Amino acid sequence: MTDIPANTFALKQALAWLRSFRERVLAHETLLTDLDAAIGDGDHGTNMARGLNAVAEGLKTSAPATLEAVLRAAGLSMVTAVGGASGPLYGTFFLRCGAALGPEPEVESVQLADALRAGLKGIVERGKAATGDKTLIDALAPGLEAFEAALAGGERLSDAALAASTAAARGRDDTKPLMARRGRAAYLGERSIGHIDPGAASMALLLEALAAAVT
Ligand code: ADP
Ligand code: MG
Repeated sequence: MTDIPANTFALKQALAWLRSFRERVLAHETLLTDLDAAIGDGDHGTNMARGLNAVAEGLKTSAPATLEAVLRAAGLSMVTAVGGASGPLYGTFFLRCGAALGPEPEVESVQLADALRAGLKGIVERGKAATGDKTLIDALAPGLEAFEAALAGGERLSDAALAASTAAARGRDDTKPLMARRGRAAYLGERSIGHIDPGAASMALLLEALAAAVT
């Protein structure tokens, strides 16, 4: 029922991904801010909303024509518009993803997985956090693992993205009992236990948006 083959990630879907991420963040802005108020400084929803509004504005003006250009524009907007830690982290993620996707109008789903992997690597290099440190990595890493496993098992892109979204949501929920070791929440030490990490919550929305964009 679509003009896009089941295992291809095209420009149209990249734009839909970012649009859907923005919609989800705006719909959950208060929740993200409330989560950050509990273990941070209460600005994560505002930061992400400001960043993604800038992304939408930037894409409207520049109308990029390749996957790399779309993701690069998004990354630069995030870095420029967001003052908090999440700006450079999401910015690096999009920039690395874009560089890995290259100047193509569309790629195979395995290349998308490689690009997401490059994005995660960028986040780790930039923020020096590991899995289990109670950050957005705890949603992205299991989401990506599920995505790669599903593709390796021969699943189509839409099913793999759905698996990624489900695993990321579980990863987000699993940050609750963790003690924060990176970012502002780490200052709270043991008092960070018992709360979901705000960045993991926004990251779960990113993978939910990907699933929506490729389905
Ligand atoms: P800030 O902490 O500067 O106020 P935000 O509130 O927008 O920025 O984002 C906080 C989120 O950023 C955290 O919930 C966490 O998921 C993520 N984060 C913070 N520091 C790091 C880091 N070093 N590595 C990975 N993620 C991080
Ligand atoms: Mg904050």
